[in-house]
Order: sequence, then structure tokens, then C-alpha cells
Amino acid sequence: MNKIIAIDGPAGSGKGTITKIIAEKLHLIYIDTGATYRAIALAALRNNLTLNDTDKIIELAKTLTIEFDENGKTYLNKEDVSNEIRSVEVTGVVSQISSIPEIREILVDLQRKMAHDKDVIMEGRDITTVVFPDTKYKFYLDADVNERARRRYIQNQEMGIESNLEEIIEAMKKRDYNDMHKPIGSLKRTEDQIYIDSTNMTIDEVVKKIITYIEEISKNETHESLTR
Ligand code: C5P
Repeated sequence: MNKIIAIDGPAGSGKGTITKIIAEKLHLIYIDTGATYRAIALAALRNNLTLNDTDKIIELAKTLTIEFDENGKTYLNKEDVSNEIRSVEVTGVVSQISSIPEIREILVDLQRKMAHDKDVIMEGRDITTVVFPDTKYKFYLDADVNERARRRYIQNQEMGIESNLEEIIEAMKKRDYNDMHKPIGSLKRTEDQIYIDSTNMTIDEVVKKIITYIEEISKNETHESLTR
């Protein structure tokens, strides 16, 4: 059976960075599900649709193709939109657009197809609970909101984007609230996830910790299948 490593957590918890490193080290395919929601949000903005145009957004989403390449770039109808999907405008509407149940249905289906027959590491908000609830490899990566905002602020500085720390904290709190209160696919903690708080950990420490867990679960799985 193919291996599915599922990682959920709030914005800025380091999921993206950490998942990419683990994918490289363990030769897994990296799937950023947030990018799929961002691609639809971008298409909606480009078509001048507002958050009230739910039916039109759903119709539009049905016509789009969203793909990743082996370097993690995101393509919307074959166009590379990797940078554009990270804009403030897209970030501002993506959480609400991803609350539309029909949009989630379309994208959960796409995400499952992307992982078909492949060993993948997939990150998002509902991977451990909705997309692949049966996988044994479930992680919830967390960090204090002030620390997450600080990381995003530094990231922006490095990319030459001017930003305000207080505003980032407020925007993150708002997105956390939206992400945790969706009717379906909300971000939640469950008993069967391995919870990691990265507030006071380095990237390297988090990577090592998750890999150790993955190896342990893998060993147990092999043992179980041998003794079955
Ligand atoms: O991970 P990222 O911050 O890029 O995700 C953007 C938004 O997409 C999240 O704030 C969330 O609202 C939504 N999302 C989701 N389910 C996922 C991944 C992302 O609802 N599996």
C-alpha cells in the first residue's frame, strides 16, 4: 500500500517548510493542499467574483485544472501561478472560499487523486480528518500565534515585502478562527494525531522529530503485517 503522511495545522505553523524538507529526505511527493484552495480563490478574483457569488465560484471551480510539478510549482489552467496565489488579496479571501462545501468536495477529490498510488506527504487543515482519515501517519503542527506571525513577518522581510507585525497577528487570528469554524473540513485536533508544538523548536528539530515518528509507525506497520 502507498504511504500517506498527513500534516494539519494553522497558518504559519511551519507546515510548508517542514513538509518540503521531509519530502526531500524521505523521497515522498509533496502536496500543498492550501495551494489548491488558493488557486480557486485567485481564479475567482480574476473573474471579479465576490464572496456572495457562491454559485458562480462553484461553476468556475468545476472548469479549472490545478496541477503541481515536481518542483512544487502550482499551475492554474497550465499557467504558473505559484507567486500570485501568495498575494495579500488571495490570502484575504481564501479562507471564506474554502468554506464553501462544494468547493471542498471538488478539491478533496482532486487531492485524493493526486495521491493515488503514490507515497506522499500532504499538508493542510483537514488531511488527517477528512482527506485521509485512515492513514496511520497523522500529525498536527502548532505554534503560538505571536510566534507564527513573527515567522511570517520575517519571511516577508526576506522577500522584500513591507508588512506590519500587529496586522499580521490580527489577520492570522481571524484566519485561525475561520479555519476552525468551517461547517466541514475545519481545522481540529483529534486523539489520533501526533501533536507537535514548534513554538520553541528549530526547523531541524521539528523535521527530526517527525521523521523519528514516521520511522516508528512504519516499523510497527511492517511488524503488524508480518504477524497478521
Ligand atoms: O495552507 P495555506 O495557508 O496556504 O492555506 C490557505 C487557506 O486554504 C487556509 O487558510 C484554509 O482556509 C484553506 N485550506 C483548507 N483546507 C486545506 C488547506 C487549506 O480549508 N486542506
